[in-house]
Amino acid sequence: MAKKQFKSESKRLLDLMINSIYTHKEIFLRELISNASDAIDKLCYISLTDDKVGLTRDDFKISIDINKDKKTLTISDNGVGMTADELEANLGVIAKSGSLQFKKDMKESESSSEDIDIIGQFGVGFYSAFMIASKVTVISRAYNSADAKDKAANMWVSSGSDGYSISACEKDSPGTDIIIELKEDTDDEQYSKYLEEYTLTSLIRKYSDYVRWPIYMDVKKNRQVETDEVDDKGEKKKIWEDYTENEVINSRIPIWQRSKSDVSDEECAEFYKEKFFDRADPVSVIRVSAEGLVSYNAMLFIPAVAPYDYFTREYKAGLQLYSSGIMIMEHCSDLLPEHFRFVRGVVESPDFSLNISREILQHDRQLKVIATNIEKKIKSELKKLMEIDMEKYQAFYKAFGIQLKYGLANGYGMNKDMLGDLIMFYSSKSEKLIPISEYINAMPEDQKYIYYASGESVAMLGKLPQTEQVRDKGYDIFYLTDEIDEFAVRMLGKIEEKEFRSVNDKDLGLESDEDKKELEQQETENKDLLDFVKTSLNGKVAAVRFSQKLKSHPVCLTSQGEISLEMEKYFKSMQAGRGGEGSAEEEMFGKMRAERVLELNATHPSFTALKDAFENDKDKAADLSNLLYGEALLTAGIPLDDPSDFSGLINKLLFS
Ligand code: ADP
Repeated sequence: MAKKQFKSESKRLLDLMINSIYTHKEIFLRELISNASDAIDKLCYISLTDDKVGLTRDDFKISIDINKDKKTLTISDNGVGMTADELEANLGVIAKSGSLQFKKDMKESESSSEDIDIIGQFGVGFYSAFMIASKVTVISRAYNSADAKDKAANMWVSSGSDGYSISACEKDSPGTDIIIELKEDTDDEQYSKYLEEYTLTSLIRKYSDYVRWPIYMDVKKNRQVETDEVDDKGEKKKIWEDYTENEVINSRIPIWQRSKSDVSDEECAEFYKEKFFDRADPVSVIRVSAEGLVSYNAMLFIPAVAPYDYFTREYKAGLQLYSSGIMIMEHCSDLLPEHFRFVRGVVESPDFSLNISREILQHDRQLKVIATNIEKKIKSELKKLMEIDMEKYQAFYKAFGIQLKYGLANGYGMNKDMLGDLIMFYSSKSEKLIPISEYINAMPEDQKYIYYASGESVAMLGKLPQTEQVRDKGYDIFYLTDEIDEFAVRMLGKIEEKEFRSVNDKDLGLESDEDKKELEQQETENKDLLDFVKTSLNGKVAAVRFSQKLKSHPVCLTSQGEISLEMEKYFKSMQAGRGGEGSAEEEMFGKMRAERVLELNATHPSFTALKDAFENDKDKAADLSNLLYGEALLTAGIPLDDPSDFSGLINKLLFS
């Protein structure tokens, strides 16, 4: 029989497993039990509609057998089993699911100590057996309704990285036996401990207690039995006798079914990390148990960090749906609104029908009721977290704040009540993210608006000319640095009667009516000059005006109309990211341009120079106009149209 080689990446992983001085070798048992449980889930599901399976729910089980003479440990299940092709496909290469993250991380970290940790965090399924095994034999018979009585089975054998072989064999009933021949004990590692009943029972209780299917193992016991001998008092003598009993080791009750007071926070966190492949504890655990119109219970988790694929198409949002202990759907997205898609967890209801299909689910009224309740619970949990543990909320917000803001923007205002008070922005005064209500509470009596400035970074915004005057007034400014922020702000509209206002806005509500009049008068007096500047800029700006917001800077660039400079940048990036030249997207986003406004500081020496040139040397006035426009672009963080033209202009004005 020819030996086959593992695919190269699997081989790397195997070598890593076999050679690592790995302290968590024990997780192999959890991995194999979890595979066995999945296999039983599958056959149990089939049995709902296929009588030929011939097993009822109570017949399914996982067994652990110890053979101390042969130094083997066998994990058996009567689940769906694998065909020869499946053995080849599943055990010849690295499994897909949980191991994906592992592969990615492995690429990123070269040091072996990190590798080791990663194995501990994620587990790598079947392969983990090689951490403790010198040889692994898998005997599997796939369930096949057409041949329900056939005994044909297959045997997969491997001693590690030198490859594996598959051959035909027989097995009485469908399912899989995994036979592990343990490595020889070394000074560092006592592999033989995995032949001890005590080690195995504690591992099962530690890692696999919630596995729905019973895990049976022979357990040594002793009892007192009467003998025929009689003691002084005429009573029969008793002696201790050893015996073994095949017992169920795991408690089986899923954690979400146990009462709140029965389950510690640590247990919930452990469950979460294992089930959803996270390394970090969740920031919150939400438990719901509802009775009445719809009965269900749910255990939901708010993660502290975003999964590596969260912002990609690969990420599957949704809650796991269980009915009577059986998982009927892994990612039920109908139960979670888009803006809370980061929430993970389990929902169980006896009311869900077992052979529920995706289509039916969408129209299921019960499901809608549950979804609405869940959304409210998540909201109030986040709100609570914000109030009682801001530090944790900050961590959460760092990971998922952007999702909330997208939710707001995409909902076109519909989600304002749900999300508005969960949103935070960076406060120029507090120098950290704060809720909008905190901003409003700290507003001085005379402050009319909630000010915001948007740009690439906090550092850049701190230097933006138009923020200077607002800050000098003693007002706080929200610095918006995510692309989506301005859209979110638009959707918020007014909060507690306070309107948001961009520092770019023509009217910041800072000046008295008198100031405004004076400015208007100035503009009328200098109309020719302002028109001249606009003409000199040759269509680059929609308006040129005197600024009310500049103090020490000569100019700033703002916009008028619906689309701001930041929004324009966003549309540009969408256009670049999507269709590209000539596409419908380009056409659409290409039109999304901000109407630029050049604002001049009438009290700055630059203006005196401009005015002087306008009266005496029109060419120079045109050059100065372009110079000032270039300055405005630079301070706004917008690239110059033509940097070499601009430096030519500087040279011309300074040195000729
Ligand atoms: P994962 O469980 O993350 O998919 P594994 O390497 O543990 O990765 O397993 C690979 C695949 O092999 C599983 O997805 C499953 O299809 C199959 N498999 C493993 N163990 C069993 C088993 N006991 N019974 C049936 N199929 C199994």
